[in-house]
Amino acid sequence: MKISDKPFVETYDKLFIGGKWVEASSGNFMNIINPATEEVWAQVTEGLEADVDEAVKAARTAFDHGPWRKMSTYERAEILRKMAHLVQANAERLAKIETLEMGKPYHLALPEAKNHHQWWYYYAGIADKIHGETIPFEDNKHIFTIREPLGVIGAITAWNTPLTMTTMKLSMALATGNTVVLKPSESTPITALEIAKLTEKAGFPPGVINVVTGRGNNVGKRLASHMDVDKISFTGATNTGRKIVNYASSSNMKKVSLELGGKSPQIIFPDANLNAALESAVSNAFLLTGQSCTLGSRLLVHRDIYDRFVSKYLEKVKLITVGDPFTNVNLGPHAHEQQLNKTLEYIKIGQEEGATLAVGGGRPKDLQKGYYINPTVFVDVEPSMRIAKEEIFGPVVSIIPFSSEEEAVEIANNVSYGLTSGVWTKDMTRAIRMAKEIRAGSVWLNTFRYVRWVTPYGGYKASGWGKENGVEAIKDFTQVKTVVMDLEN
Ligand code: NDP
Repeated sequence: MKISDKPFVETYDKLFIGGKWVEASSGNFMNIINPATEEVWAQVTEGLEADVDEAVKAARTAFDHGPWRKMSTYERAEILRKMAHLVQANAERLAKIETLEMGKPYHLALPEAKNHHQWWYYYAGIADKIHGETIPFEDNKHIFTIREPLGVIGAITAWNTPLTMTTMKLSMALATGNTVVLKPSESTPITALEIAKLTEKAGFPPGVINVVTGRGNNVGKRLASHMDVDKISFTGATNTGRKIVNYASSSNMKKVSLELGGKSPQIIFPDANLNAALESAVSNAFLLTGQSCTLGSRLLVHRDIYDRFVSKYLEKVKLITVGDPFTNVNLGPHAHEQQLNKTLEYIKIGQEEGATLAVGGGRPKDLQKGYYINPTVFVDVEPSMRIAKEEIFGPVVSIIPFSSEEEAVEIANNVSYGLTSGVWTKDMTRAIRMAKEIRAGSVWLNTFRYVRWVTPYGGYKASGWGKENGVEAIKDFTQVKTVVMDLEN
């Protein structure tokens, strides 16, 4: 399907609060731009602070007085399973929306969307296995813990992978018995509204899921500052994460988990399977036009293979195709103009810093409309340069040579972020040593970007707090109560 076959403007004129579709207090709409055409393809109602208050009230009522928290865990799991079926059945529509919202190539969005029901199945399977412990200590005391939901979760998502983020946050928060107010990114809010429609069909009780579309500086801020929200689960930029922490600490000390930025290394040793490393180093740097926190945008290559590997790398990057995301291209556009300008600015910074621009560096000349940009590679980058240390979130790779394992670790760790990393080597003792030394939430050995519903995911350092996915995430969406009974009184 070509973009030109889809000239429609869809209107999403309501918010989802308390199980009903309601008008926003503002009466205003936000235009949603298709980044491939720069045209408005949808309009979404603009929520304000008053709408957040209504949504939190609905979520609180559903948590305190509704059936969700008290229903048996197998009944809760059954609703999550119904949701999984619905997500699976609607995968094509969800994939199309993701392509229209953020420009991800449809041929990549579809298989991913077809997999997203797995999160719902996985957490449905966990819903009836969450429990406390008994703690044997003194004979006259009975000590046990109860693992309880936190209450009302405020979920705030970024624009780059709307379906994944919505799926992850909702499935984790709901399986643990919480209720949710979701605020999606203002540039990609449609996925959240479509998922809300599916939750209605799945049979979640009213108020368990609420969606307020709107802007970060009022809707997001109100949610994070709200006195009746128990936790914020946030995905976005590190600077916004800092604000979220301030809002939480200056309101009710709600809990906060943060999935933030990254500047992740892919480290290549001479003894690696170099063909596999080469494939990964290209695809896992440029995928999604560089707009994924998991990607490896710093390529550290051992000096013994540097010239040969880099020359093959550049050849491969030159073959990457950019264009209409409803065709078979490798890269679509940037998701919005602001990100395009940020990437162009960093390319300028790299040149001013003295790095060698080997490929790309500008916009494709044959594409008149859309936020497109060519994949770009800087070689012989110094680890101290800004392009080697700061998150660009665009298709820009910095290649840095290294001479020893110790130097590779030093370079890998010498950034403020610590989200993901990859090491390519056949020496397994070195691989394990590196996995222990690298300060990042995920280390991939001879693979990269392996994130599934079972793999705990979350950053070290300025890349965030807490974990999503896997059984580990349950800890971040529950709290433990300790009960002690004296058996003699
Ligand atoms: P932002 O931090 O700008 O926005 C994220 C969300 O926060 C949006 O919903 C935004 O709303 C909202 N927001 C903005 N300002 C505030 C505020 N003052 N108070 C409350 N909420 C606010 O990030 P981006 O959307 O630009 O996403 C890109 C970033 O996300 C990158 O740094 C990337 O690395 C990171 N990311 C991290 C992931 C991880 O798992 N670690 C995964 C994906 C992305 P609005 O859109 O209306 O501004």
